[in-house]
Amino acid sequence: MVNLIDKSSLPVVASFIRLYGPTLREFFPDSDANISFHNLPESENQFRDILVRLGKKIFISPEEVGRLGLSNPEIFAALAHELGHILYNADAFAPDNEQRADTLAARLGLGSQMIAVIEKIIASRRFRHLTSELVRRIQFLQLVG
Ligand SMILES: [Zn+2]
Repeated sequence: MVNLIDKSSLPVVASFIRLYGPTLREFFPDSDANISFHNLPESENQFRDILVRLGKKIFISPEEVGRLGLSNPEIFAALAHELGHILYNADAFAPDNEQRADTLAARLGLGSQMIAVIEKIIASRRFRHLTSELVRRIQFLQLVG
C-alpha cells in the first residue's frame, strides 16, 4: 500500500494526503512505496528550489511556492507530479519522464492546475532554458486532460 508520510507540518500537504491518498492507493494497489513530505527551510534552499525530490522524499519550500503564487490546488498538482516520478519509476530527468509524471496529476483531476503551475514557472523565467520543454508539457496536458 502506498504510504504517504507527512513530516512537513504544512497544512497544504496534510490536505493533499487526506484528499488524494485513498485514490493513489487505488491507482497503485501493488506499490509498497513509503513516500515522505518534508519542509525545505529557506536557510537550506540555496538554489531556491520550489519542490525537490530525493529518492522517495519530497521537499517543499513554502517560501518559493509563495513567490511563484501557487494556489493550494496548484500545489496539489505539483505534489502529484513529484509522486508520479516516484510511482511510475520515472525518476531520471528526461522529457518522457516529465510527461509521465504529469499524467498522474491529470489522472487525479488536476490537469488544468498542472498547466497553471507550468505557466507560472514559465512566467517566472526561472528555467528559461527549459521553456520549449515546458510548453510541450502544457500541450501534452491539454491533450490528455
Ligand atoms: Zn518532474
